[in-house]
Amino acid sequence: MAEFDYDLFVIGGGSGGVRAARIASQHGAKVGLAEEYRYGGTCVIRGCVPKKLLVYASTFSETFEDAAGYGWSGVDNASFDWPTLIANKDRELDRLEGAYLRNLEGAGVTAIRSRAVLESAHRVFLEAEDRHVTAKTVLIATGGTPNVDATLPGVEHVITSNEAFHLERFPERIAIAGGGYIAVEFACIFNGLGAETTLIYRGDEILRGFDDDMRTALHAEMERKGIKIICGDVFSKIEKTDACLMGHTRAGHVLAADQIMFAIGRRPNTDGLGLEAVGVEFDASGAIKVDEWSQTSVPSIYAVGDVTNRINLTPVAIREGHAFADTVFGGRPVKVDHRTVASAVFSQPEIGTVGLTEAEARAAVRVVDVYKTAFRPMFHTLSGREERMVMKLVVDGESDQVLGVHILGHAAAEMAQILGILLKKGVTKAEFDATIAVHPTAAEELVTMRQAPVRYVREAAE
Ligand code: NDP
Repeated sequence: MAEFDYDLFVIGGGSGGVRAARIASQHGAKVGLAEEYRYGGTCVIRGCVPKKLLVYASTFSETFEDAAGYGWSGVDNASFDWPTLIANKDRELDRLEGAYLRNLEGAGVTAIRSRAVLESAHRVFLEAEDRHVTAKTVLIATGGTPNVDATLPGVEHVITSNEAFHLERFPERIAIAGGGYIAVEFACIFNGLGAETTLIYRGDEILRGFDDDMRTALHAEMERKGIKIICGDVFSKIEKTDACLMGHTRAGHVLAADQIMFAIGRRPNTDGLGLEAVGVEFDASGAIKVDEWSQTSVPSIYAVGDVTNRINLTPVAIREGHAFADTVFGGRPVKVDHRTVASAVFSQPEIGTVGLTEAEARAAVRVVDVYKTAFRPMFHTLSGREERMVMKLVVDGESDQVLGVHILGHAAAEMAQILGILLKKGVTKAEFDATIAVHPTAAEELVTMRQAPVRYVREAAE
């Protein structure tokens, strides 16, 4: 009889867990996976996928306006129905969840709909089935969960992105706390769908960690579209009246809103998993501490994805899950390279980014050349919309290597994907210059920036 029920037991059926389970099974392992909610995890069920569908929905209001300059009429009295959007979105998510489950089962994984809790280094308790299973290796892939400020008076009235996808009624007025990816993306979504939208952020400028030119330019574009942005402030109290919610801020603003949404970061989903009892160690942020092989302090237990708080992006979790399965079950040790990961903010306009920001580059190398252009995209010459596209190359002035590319504007995310390949290969500015443009596109600006750069030289420390 086998020593364990499974070679691998995965806790969490999101992007990272599902990929690890499938690949390990394909390598010949006997694999079980427990998911307490829905297969697909945050990305598919209440993150990237439904968010992008809502983004698409929210862009139509401007498209209808822009059409007039191109000779179209009759679209200016278009109306929007939130329940239709949500129902169609839910239908698509059901389809995707089914595909995830079929892929798992097709790969030979036993999928179990249950919460799973660790009891020892090799034993897991399945709550819904009131039974234990044993496994030679356990993978924790439980993702993250939205933070709220639990000490805030009236916090019970706020929603997070989890609930925003299922609101029964469209909020005519919404206030969103936070200045990161989720706050910015949802502010643009609700604004585009017609809500009176306020963003309230504690810092000086939204999207800390992104290139400063992208942050200020996006801020200006969001305000131009009608989003009210309050920086340097936080909610101090939420009150519920018969008519609406009243959000009081520390600086004395009182915001009347139908919904108040918190998007102030996410934390690793580790509560009640039994990790402490079996000796799994955490880092200062509460994430599971892992080494470069995604192995925890307990040798039989591994962890991938947001629960490890490395780079909290779906494709990174997928890569970590795949590398784990290849390493432990495929006889092929694979480490994930977490450098130069391209990403996007699906704001409106969107941001695509890869590599170092100007500030990071100036801290990292001695000479930095910055090439920057801001222009009105061709599409808006006839639409008449005042919207600027911004592109920026950050170059090592000594080696000529392109260290970072940052784009604000239509299709920036699509461009970032391709630029990610180039920057990973160590592309130089001279190679950008040697590339013939695709015309007429916005992206051609990337290979036609010939003006003298702004050069920053760091003096040697005394
Ligand atoms: P982020 O970490 O991006 O941003 C959190 C924001 O909340 C920051 O502006 C932060 O301010 C602010 N904040 C933190 N704590 C408080 C507090 N106590 N009171 C008020 N404000 C606070 O988190 P998100 O929730 O937006 O997104 C979580 C993660 O999900 C992202 O980091 C990203 O990895 C991933 N994600 C990726 C997307 C994409 O790729 N397009 C889309 C959505 C999410 P400060 O800057 O001052 O710290």
